[in-house]
Amino acid sequence: MTKIASKGLTKTQINRFKKMLETKALEIRVNLQSSSAAKALARGDEPPDLEELPGQSHEEWIFLNRNNIEVMFLREIDEALDRIEDGDYGTCLECEKQIALKRLEAVSWARYCVPCQEELSVEQEPPERVRSYRG
Ligand SMILES: [Zn+2]
Repeated sequence: MTKIASKGLTKTQINRFKKMLETKALEIRVNLQSSSAAKALARGDEPPDLEELPGQSHEEWIFLNRNNIEVMFLREIDEALDRIEDGDYGTCLECEKQIALKRLEAVSWARYCVPCQEELSVEQEPPERVRSYRG
């Protein structure tokens, strides 16, 4: 008997999402490796406190901040790949319902179904610095 890895998704679908996630993760890793500053970010758990660095140019700040977001994104993708391994992929972490296939097609690393994500994004505002920074 073949074991169904995740309820609601076929093995073929899961394999396809896995490929998508792996491709995306690779893309981000390649981007990050193009800079030594980003490499430091990718290695460390905590991003450097950029406000403490004297003489940091705006361009560098934007660059580092963007890479920091990429690193966080990469972690989300890695988590999704872990969920595939565990057979939990496609299940909302909040309500444990099946995440709509359409959503997974668009956001293959999605952790939550649409209603849960909407509720969470109200609570979790983006970091102040990302939001308020304007040239
Ligand atoms: Zn949910």
